[in-house]
Amino acid sequence: MPKGVAASPGIAIGKAYILEKENLCILEYKIKQEEVEREIKRFKKAVEESKKQILEIKDKVSKEIGKQEAYIFQSYLNILEDPLLIDGTIEKIKNSRLNAEAALRATYKSFPEKFKAIQSEFIKERFRDVEDVAQRILQNLLEQPTMSLSHLEEKIIIVAYDLAPSDTVSIDKDKVLGFATDVGGRTSHTAIMARALEIPAVVGLRDITKKVKPGSTIIVDGNSGKVIINPTPRQIERYKEKKRKFLIYKKSLENLKSLPPKTIDGREIELAANIAGPEEVDLAMRDGAEGVGLYRTEYLYMNRSSLPSEEEQLEAYRAVVEKVAPYSVIIRTLDLGGDKFLSHFPVPREINPFMGCRAIRLSLELVEVFKTQLRAILRAAMYGKVKVMYPMISALEEVRKANRILSEVKEELKREGLSFSDSVDIGVMIEVPSAAVMADILAREVDFFSLGTNDLIQYTLAVDRVNEKVAHLYQPLHPTILRLIDNVVKAAHREGIWVGACGEMASDPLGVSVLLGLGVDELSVAPTSILEIKKVIRELNWEETQKIVSHLLNLGTSKQVKRYLDSRIGKKIRKILQGGE
Ligand code: PEP
Ligand code: MG
Repeated sequence: MPKGVAASPGIAIGKAYILEKENLCILEYKIKQEEVEREIKRFKKAVEESKKQILEIKDKVSKEIGKQEAYIFQSYLNILEDPLLIDGTIEKIKNSRLNAEAALRATYKSFPEKFKAIQSEFIKERFRDVEDVAQRILQNLLEQPTMSLSHLEEKIIIVAYDLAPSDTVSIDKDKVLGFATDVGGRTSHTAIMARALEIPAVVGLRDITKKVKPGSTIIVDGNSGKVIINPTPRQIERYKEKKRKFLIYKKSLENLKSLPPKTIDGREIELAANIAGPEEVDLAMRDGAEGVGLYRTEYLYMNRSSLPSEEEQLEAYRAVVEKVAPYSVIIRTLDLGGDKFLSHFPVPREINPFMGCRAIRLSLELVEVFKTQLRAILRAAMYGKVKVMYPMISALEEVRKANRILSEVKEELKREGLSFSDSVDIGVMIEVPSAAVMADILAREVDFFSLGTNDLIQYTLAVDRVNEKVAHLYQPLHPTILRLIDNVVKAAHREGIWVGACGEMASDPLGVSVLLGLGVDELSVAPTSILEIKKVIRELNWEETQKIVSHLLNLGTSKQVKRYLDSRIGKKIRKILQGGE
């Protein structure tokens, strides 16, 4: 049974529609010197035409789906201005005397080779955007109409290599039951759009387009990431039942939107959302998020070939801040490095990037880049409530250094007469063991902590979070992790500051019960998990979780922790979640 990434929850049962990208027939031929100008003109016209079309799509999305979803198309417009693609093609026409189609193809096809060293899933996904844009320019050069999914006759499940935003936008929501794609991950556009459209989706299935025959029946389980091809009547019945239960469960969650995330015995937890860009804010706020607990700003730097300017960052942060007000937005400063790289950034390659010059270390080295971001954040803070958070702090000096730069930035803004907020709270991510152990000292320097459990687990247990080979050693419930968190929470509370958790552990029901018991004050989770986690919080008894945790802190292995948790709370959690499954 093919298994991929569960990208958008829900279950779809229906006929597969294999979406094939037209294979454009591109001829390659040499042009004469006197034809060069004409060819460049033809290319520029196709680029202009593409811009017009994308602007139209952007408007349509903005009106019919939402302003934030339309944001994706801004990156398409940026690609159409990208010197690497546009000037690169023009140079090729001139220097190699190639026809425009062949020059464009040669230019964008050389990108993967150029970026080969980059492991980032995000960059790979952005390359698919470049391909989509290039395809559109080619279609305009060849004067071929673009494909549309708006005239589907019957209800179907789309099976595709990948869905470009320009494909998803033309989708008739009543006809498309689900998506299944070969490529894509958590942050792929297909995943984001599927969630915005509330269509079940599984992405990253590798070769689903080869396995499914057009018209055959398939089941897409967006909850577990499974896809069943040609299911038996019994499987269909079972999944119909699952679907029925899921819809009842989803409906029941809706009632929670305006209820507080409070335990049975009255402990109120702040429940916020993790976002990677403005496009995720609407869903989070609709489901009752009390602010943004983690804004991963690095994505703003990633879908492009140059750094975002201060004004551009200001605009992006302001969009989020205004939407989220009166709640606060925790803007995490640039967390590049590790598995997140930029194609155009002057960062030397390292043997061990997760341990190298990443996150705050990089910002402290590239002070001007850091300052530009801090300026934009402080200016955006005028439009609502903003907190700043430094990633991957591993030593006290880093906090002090970052704060010194922040003070300099404030002075500069003052001198320039620009309006900004002088009173943003400063926090740090606790995601490196040294920071967790030093929490008592760090707590005196900042206003809050947020536990980045994804990295904290990786660094504490020495288990690469992206290496499948050691995935079995990646144990969020390892006793050491619980002890570290216990130390952090106690130290923070002694110093009178609050502690949140924004790693994946906060989106896991069992993890939530442990975090609550350890005394965490805030949880920040993926927008799609807000309601589920709220449900879990509302059915837990805080005092009981504290008692459970005090026992867990004396255990020696993850297995023992899991077994004890299961015996005390497993049944309850399973019952809370969808139909006892
Ligand atoms: C974490 O490390 O837990 C975290 C939230 O940050 P990221 O996943 O972006 O590294
Ligand atoms: Mg992290």
